[in-house]
Amino acid sequence: MIKKAVTIDFKKGEVIFKQDDKGTCAYLIDSGEVQVFNGDVALAILGSGEIFGEMAIIDGSRRAATAIAVTDCCVLKVSKTQLNERISDSDPVVRYLISVLLTRLRDTLSSTGKVSDHTKPKLNKSNKVISLNDFKSNRDVVEKIKLESALKDALGAGEFSMNYQPILNFETGNISGFEALMRWNSPERGFVRPDIFIGVAEETSLIIPMGHWIIDQSIKDFAIIKNQLIADGKYSEPMFMSINIAAKQFNDKKLFKVLTRAIEKYDIEAGEIKLEITERVLLAGEFVFDWILRAREKGFSVALDDFGTGFSSLSYLANLAVNNLKIDKSFVEKMIEDPKTKSIVKSVVDLSKSLGLTVIAEGVETQEEWNILEELGCDYMQGYLFSKPLTLDNTIELLSETSGHKKKAA
Ligand code: C2E
Ligand code: CA
Ligand code: CA
Repeated sequence: MIKKAVTIDFKKGEVIFKQDDKGTCAYLIDSGEVQVFNGDVALAILGSGEIFGEMAIIDGSRRAATAIAVTDCCVLKVSKTQLNERISDSDPVVRYLISVLLTRLRDTLSSTGKVSDHTKPKLNKSNKVISLNDFKSNRDVVEKIKLESALKDALGAGEFSMNYQPILNFETGNISGFEALMRWNSPERGFVRPDIFIGVAEETSLIIPMGHWIIDQSIKDFAIIKNQLIADGKYSEPMFMSINIAAKQFNDKKLFKVLTRAIEKYDIEAGEIKLEITERVLLAGEFVFDWILRAREKGFSVALDDFGTGFSSLSYLANLAVNNLKIDKSFVEKMIEDPKTKSIVKSVVDLSKSLGLTVIAEGVETQEEWNILEELGCDYMQGYLFSKPLTLDNTIELLSETSGHKKKAA
């Protein structure tokens, strides 16, 4: 919890802290002016809105300077916790940069003889926000920066592709749809796992242009799949294409325009597109509920993905405009050996039915899982038992082999 900031008044000429003191908090100037000295060298005069005394609490060192009130002034105490929460929640690259800048600043001050050696950060001290030890080996940070740069170039260089994992209808045994899953074949790294590069793309907002590409590509490919089936006389029932929407994409003002443009361009109905959002994004706020409503008003289907791994409150389901629910593979996996998990899956399926939602089970790998899910009344299944995600060519090949139909898994 963030502690309430405390205001302190200092009289003109009063010392706020001295060089070499132990630093326990930083200060934000509310009114008045403060001068900072290194030894007897005046460094800066700071005024309203400026912060000082932060270095010592960020890196756990002693005060590198003396601060004196130039006028009567009022300052707000900023606790270590207040800074700690913000810094430790920040991107590792930002934390790394802060630590580098602080080290350089202290080295500069000490080389000009203005800071005594013991004001330098002591590693492993408990009252610091950033441990320079964290970055002793900065391989992770360097790797992340490299990955981001490579990812930035990947879209233009055509290194992305889409795979499509068939989704089967339990009742008919037919392929009813697909989930579009992105693949990145990097020249230097080979195939990078999507949960890794999608996460980085979200942090850097690259997910926005990538998301546009994903939408266009998967709707284009869906039209190719559909037209091929129609041409072969095998298109017997409506199909859908599921597209994953990452949390950051909720801020993309162009998203619905891009979706609408793509369905018009490739002659696909909005109802044939399912937008998969994870349960966790509901925590982002009320606007997500509105976003779902908007998607439904535009005719798109919305699926709640990875159900059971995040928010996990059944009560909100009734107020949510989603029309599909995807039970996470962790439940499917545990269901066989753990009767409690099976009961949870049963309750989720029953509740979904009563709310008029269709249920898709993810990660079905064995015939036993298939049988239970079918018995519990799941509508669709997706998993390696039937098929892994496939390239467009392999998807078309599979459909031609199975005539768009699949007998029950053997
Ligand atoms: P997800 O949305 O939960 O996608 C399902 C993941 O489960 C896929 O992993 C799929 O290959 C895998 N899977 C399917 N059946 C089975 C099975 O029977 N057993 C096991 N063990 N796994 C199965 P993938 O392709 O590695 O994607 C991982 C995650 O990356 C996705 O999880 C999704 O969150 C994200 N992702 C992938 N493509 C995209 C994309 O185009 N856009 C966005 N926003 N996220 C994507
Ligand atoms: Ca998904
Ligand atoms: Ca999922």
